[in-house]
Amino acid sequence: MDNTALPLIKLSEYFAKYPGIGLKTAKRLAYQTLSFDIDEVEMFAKALIEVKETIHFCPVCQTFTDLDLCKICTDAEIGKRNKQQICVVETPKDINAVERTAEYKGVYHVLHGLISPLEKITPEKIKIKELLTRVRDNDIIEVIMATNPTIEGDATALYIAKILKPIGLKVTRLAFGLPIGGILEQADEVTLFKALENRNEL
Ligand SMILES: [Zn+2]
Repeated sequence: MDNTALPLIKLSEYFAKYPGIGLKTAKRLAYQTLSFDIDEVEMFAKALIEVKETIHFCPVCQTFTDLDLCKICTDAEIGKRNKQQICVVETPKDINAVERTAEYKGVYHVLHGLISPLEKITPEKIKIKELLTRVRDNDIIEVIMATNPTIEGDATALYIAKILKPIGLKVTRLAFGLPIGGILEQADEVTLFKALENRNEL
């Protein structure tokens, strides 16, 4: 029989909720927590709560931030970035991938998902409405679709392009030299730099 103490099982079940963490690893993490000082555990618990209490969507680009306006949008407000060029990504992590190239000086928009009929993710369920409002209320010149080169990523890019092009916007797509299904987050800087530089008009 499993002789694991109940509090350890309870804690493992939480760790097991994380992507990529199986029950075995979750248990190991729970046991590892036992080796922390009580102060450390308290800080850990506080950090978990702080994440939930302070993080919200940036009102402009929809990325996660603990500030009124995220750092990139703040830089755009003070003229350090080009507000007329929006790079549309699936997740906040993708912003960091593009930032690593040090090539892009525009702003971002995070969709928090991709359109997927299979998973019943309709356009209303991701932050497309916010993008359209933003494009309507600001003087935007170009929207770069930097969603991953997957079926969902391509479909989402095309869906948005179909709405934006008739209103006279330039809509481009990264020229991925990536294998089909490759993802932005794992692309190296040189590949992304080229993808950005050689972007095609949709
Ligand atoms: Zn922002």
